[in-house]
Amino acid sequence: MGVMTLNAAPRLEFSSELGESNYKRACREYPGQVLVDLAVMKRNMEHLVDVCGGAHSGTAVMGVVKADAYGHGLIPSALAALAGGATWLGTAQPREALLLRKAGIGPDRCHILTWLYNGTAAPFEDLIASDIDISVGSLAGIEALAAAARKLGKTARVHVKVDTGFGRNGFTPEAFDDALDLLGRFKAEGAIEIIGQWSHLAVADMPKQPVFVSSTDRQIANFEEFSLRMHEAGLSPQIRHLANTAATLTRPAIHYDLTRPGIGLYGYEPDPSMGTPSKYALTPAMSLQAQLATVKHLEAGHGISYGRTYLTEQETSAAVMPLGYADGIHRSASGSDVEGSLGQEHLGGPIRVMTTAGPRLVRVSGRVCMDQCVLDLHGDADQLGVHEGDTVLLFGPGRGEEQCEPTADDWARAAGTICYEIFTCLRSRIPRLYLHAQTALPAQDLGMLDPRSLL
Ligand SMILES: *Cc1c(COP(=O)(O)O)cnc(C)c1O
Repeated sequence: MGVMTLNAAPRLEFSSELGESNYKRACREYPGQVLVDLAVMKRNMEHLVDVCGGAHSGTAVMGVVKADAYGHGLIPSALAALAGGATWLGTAQPREALLLRKAGIGPDRCHILTWLYNGTAAPFEDLIASDIDISVGSLAGIEALAAAARKLGKTARVHVKVDTGFGRNGFTPEAFDDALDLLGRFKAEGAIEIIGQWSHLAVADMPKQPVFVSSTDRQIANFEEFSLRMHEAGLSPQIRHLANTAATLTRPAIHYDLTRPGIGLYGYEPDPSMGTPSKYALTPAMSLQAQLATVKHLEAGHGISYGRTYLTEQETSAAVMPLGYADGIHRSASGSDVEGSLGQEHLGGPIRVMTTAGPRLVRVSGRVCMDQCVLDLHGDADQLGVHEGDTVLLFGPGRGEEQCEPTADDWARAAGTICYEIFTCLRSRIPRLYLHAQTALPAQDLGMLDPRSLL
């Protein structure tokens, strides 16, 4: 046995000896781990359902699980969302919608909506056959979808995407008459059924900025205008939906029949200007931790990493953290200091390390490398009690870096991005491990998960 190692991450509650052995194996296989608490994710969804008035309010909730559930893992996250009361799941890419059905999440359990594809090559037949709702926002897409439905002899469930001001997917008001003509024709033929009308908001995450509030108001007015036109064309949708997490939390008037929270399910607010997750009774579900590699002494004035952008201020110890940009650690979260070659300070991504005197916040020092970064410990590792093998925490469900509990929002600030990108960039080579699957999910769902991923 080696020296005692210190742990800066929260203590894990294993469900069983098997869970503990899964954890140990993951640590042997890779020196960093993504931990996702499914009980937390389920509670976040329960809360979002409450925010929408509860299960019988007439407003359903979709768990948005695109991009591998924002990096949290598609199937476990989808199951946690359903356990928390979501009755819809949504993915941008059809591939992920199909994966949900293939995993065993059937149409008896929830609706699934998918919305992003190349209409000339999308797997429409598979989608229709799998009872997946499909968004349409182009004439070519409607034509191809109807052709697939005709061929299959099964009506496609369609959500009409309208561009109320986002400038991305959906029909603009100018192009909508042509769309309505085509939709009317295919509906009459029985190839399609108009399930939904929907749109996406551009600036709902900036509720403190009057220009953005009025811009969202304009999007809502446009949305209603589109509804009127659908009604006049005899194509009224069964449901309408517009709200992302930001609008779900701050704009109850536009919950309509369905809301579509993504980031809220994972426990973050959409933008730090809105406050912290706790303000919205949300808890981050993901933690990212790593085990230190080499820990060693460095002289004062010693360069750290490529480009010599960081020089040690004094004699110190430095630790190698074995995650780098090939793991999704943003290179823009590199740390530089005024002594270094750039001549300016940029605070690197924050990391919580444990010392014998308690936790300490250190930062990425110098450039993030492909597989690793270096942390200036600002002290003597022996005196601090920091060793190779210690577990450090990059982010978790904490109160923020000021409290020595860094969050994904802190990393987003250091990297000049948003927490969404912090999660989704984490590469698949970092193992995903799940806490509380056994308590959060119905027993019959556990079989859909990789048993080696359960703690
Ligand atoms: C990603 C996405 C959402 C969820 O957005 P959040 O800000 O994560 O809540 C909702 N609707 C659409 C169309 C999306 O692409």
